Amino acid sequence: MRVLIGGGSGFVGRELTRLLKNKGHEVTVISRQPGPGKITWGELESHGLPPCEGAVNLAGENLMNPLRWWNESYKKDLFSSRIDTTKSLAQAIAASSSPPHSWVVVSGVACYKPSLTAEYTEESAWTPFDILSKLVKEWEASALLPENVTNTTKQVVIRAGAVLGRDGGAMKQMLLPFWLGLGGTLGSGRQPFPWIHVSDLAGLIAHALEPPADTPSPSQQVLNGVAPALNTNLEFTKELGRVLRRPTIFPVPGFVMNTLMGSERAIVLMEGQKVIPKRTQEAGFQYKYPDLTSALKEIVRS
Ligand code: NDP
Repeated sequence: MRVLIGGGSGFVGRELTRLLKNKGHEVTVISRQPGPGKITWGELESHGLPPCEGAVNLAGENLMNPLRWWNESYKKDLFSSRIDTTKSLAQAIAASSSPPHSWVVVSGVACYKPSLTAEYTEESAWTPFDILSKLVKEWEASALLPENVTNTTKQVVIRAGAVLGRDGGAMKQMLLPFWLGLGGTLGSGRQPFPWIHVSDLAGLIAHALEPPADTPSPSQQVLNGVAPALNTNLEFTKELGRVLRRPTIFPVPGFVMNTLMGSERAIVLMEGQKVIPKRTQEAGFQYKYPDLTSALKEIVRS
């Protein structure tokens, strides 16, 4: 299969590319920078979709970029980097004379309202309640294909939790302070912490890219991209400390996170949702790292 990956040069994209190539598939990345094995977003717009059987979008300005202050220009970039790239790919698919059989977009679990008790599956109804849930709404809407291709192309949205892996995402910034024994719970630590190992997210995207058995459904299929283990921030903190053999005695108060990150962004870490991967499991997806211990051991070992 030939797979086109928007934002394939990033943390998740590199893992997905490795996995697909190991399975014998061909990968072309869409990037802002030209290079071998890549096309640029400008080339996609001017030349149209290159021949491919699967397309994925992973492009997006990093939400946890520690070098960027939470201001209007950053928020604008978070929206445009996801929505414009997703729209460009959806439009190229719609205009193609031979559209791919699968189109996969990875969005986030920020659409579900943080709660200590509510449990969310892919079937849970939700409406935007803050800036990040509004982002997810517009992002997923921008991936929708017009009717002329919905019977040829399967549309899948994977709502990912915090992606855990050595080379990117939240872990990249957390490992050093935890190594130094400076790690601790965020706020009360009771908030749910939905997560997935990067290797499982890549596996789930590859699973979603498989050709549909029947005529695809005209609507988007949603899969929650989280591990089945429901953990809190306290459990995550204690387990990471245990695996690293380091103490985790310095809790980080909410006001510090809000000041450093901006409260609208800190919500991702200071509050959380219990997200159940109901359809993901019903679809037969097998996790390599279903629990925190196995996931964190693999990350620390690698
Ligand atoms: P990365 O931060 O690694 O970014 C992916 C790619 O996006 C980059 O390699 C870059 O490609 C492109 N990109 C970055 N900034 C911009 C921009 N301003 N405009 C256009 N393109 C840009 O992302 P991840 O691999 O961590 O995540 C993949 C997707 O999954 C993202 O959309 C993310 O929002 C989503 N997600 C990630 C989670 C996580 O914990 N990592 C959690 C939930 C969802 P290039 O430089 O080649 O153009």
